[in-house]
Amino acid sequence: KPRTKYVGNRLKHRLDQRVRTLLSDIGNAGDTLGVEVFVVGGFVRDLMLEQPIEDVDVVVEGDGIAFASYFASLHHCRLHQHRKFNTAVIIFEDGLKVDVASARLEYYATPAALPVVENSSIKMDLARRDFTINTLAISLNTETFGTLIDYFGGVRDVKDKIVRIIHNLSFIEDPTRIFRAIKFSNRFGFRIGKVTANLIKNALNVGAVKNLSGLRVLSELKQIFGEENPLPAVQTMADYGLDKVIHHDLKLTDTTCALFESVGKTLAWHDLLYADDVYPRWAVYFMAWLHGYPFAVSIQIADRLMFPVKEKERLIEQRIKSEHRIRLIEKSYPVSTQQIYWWLIHFKTECLLFMLALTKNESVRKAISHFYTHQRKIKPLIGGKDLKSVGIKPGPVYTTILNKIIDEKLDGKLNTMEEEIKFAKHYAFENKLI
Ligand code: ATP
Repeated sequence: KPRTKYVGNRLKHRLDQRVRTLLSDIGNAGDTLGVEVFVVGGFVRDLMLEQPIEDVDVVVEGDGIAFASYFASLHHCRLHQHRKFNTAVIIFEDGLKVDVASARLEYYATPAALPVVENSSIKMDLARRDFTINTLAISLNTETFGTLIDYFGGVRDVKDKIVRIIHNLSFIEDPTRIFRAIKFSNRFGFRIGKVTANLIKNALNVGAVKNLSGLRVLSELKQIFGEENPLPAVQTMADYGLDKVIHHDLKLTDTTCALFESVGKTLAWHDLLYADDVYPRWAVYFMAWLHGYPFAVSIQIADRLMFPVKEKERLIEQRIKSEHRIRLIEKSYPVSTQQIYWWLIHFKTECLLFMLALTKNESVRKAISHFYTHQRKIKPLIGGKDLKSVGIKPGPVYTTILNKIIDEKLDGKLNTMEEEIKFAKHYAFENKLI
């Protein structure tokens, strides 16, 4: 028998109207189809922790796909089905998503393989989850709406701030849970329970992570590096020797820790000022994690993590280029605005942020943030067509002229199309192009 508790008031006070209506709509659809429906996992955990809620994960005791199809057609939503896993995603017009799963009996054919899925009840579904804090469910059917169901002591562990597995073979069954334990303990400031910590060590001793596919490790690392402050998690990974399992040369140094702190400050500055400017947050921390490792070692690490080719190029080459570029700027400083512009304009946001975090030279940092704030978006107002219309023959000279216009604009000149055209004509005339 599970422990139960009424949390309807918490739902009322903590959720906005939209999500509340959604939950009762899901409950009503469950009533109509005669199936029990629950909101589960991270949603309930975050509700109990008073954290912002992102995903809505629903479990249906029965056929989740049939439920999702019914709900989607009733509420005019799009639907994605994953028949193999008996799951579906309901997508509302504004992008809001609801993941729907069928209460299922899930087992692993071999350790570290993907789960095989059969139908079963909510308790079995919750028992297959990683940590007690993720095993909470709230009933959504009208009669029982708002009843929190706790089979595995999740409420107690949320209160005690503990990450705890549900059964002793958990990490052997799925070693990615080792990374997940560290992620959650870092995110919520929870400790990893004693038994759980020992089971992590045992799993590492028997080589569980060694056999884990690079793709799965990478996906977990990206999540950890995407967290608000990944430094404690990276330190915990090092304490368990997880980095050494990924590559024997990986060693967390004081320099890396200091760099992580510097990245944290840089990203906080950036995100406050440029909330709309999206970049892969994890990539900046990933570059910091590998800072200073030679090209060959970095490639071995990227290969172990099965990085897609494009991402590998971006992260390894761009990281090394960024390291060189920032040293060049530091060495040459002071340099002209134009020089800073042309040295930086081809770097992606994550690289610029990495460079900002790397430099200890305050003037250089100011110059780069000035570039980022005021100059990065400077473009000529005119284009090739305009140059053609004033009689300049198309060719590489177009790039030269447009770049010269940028140089002028960096000095605050040429603010209108007319001024730019006049400048282009003058340049072409001087150089005998017309
Ligand atoms: P986040 O806030 O990081 O998204 P989440 O708990 O919502 O956290 P997901 O990775 O979206 O995490 O997983 C959804 C649910 O699926 C989790 O609450 C957890 O119960 C379960 N789960 C995910 N990965 C595993 C795993 N490797 N083993 C067991 N259960 C898992």
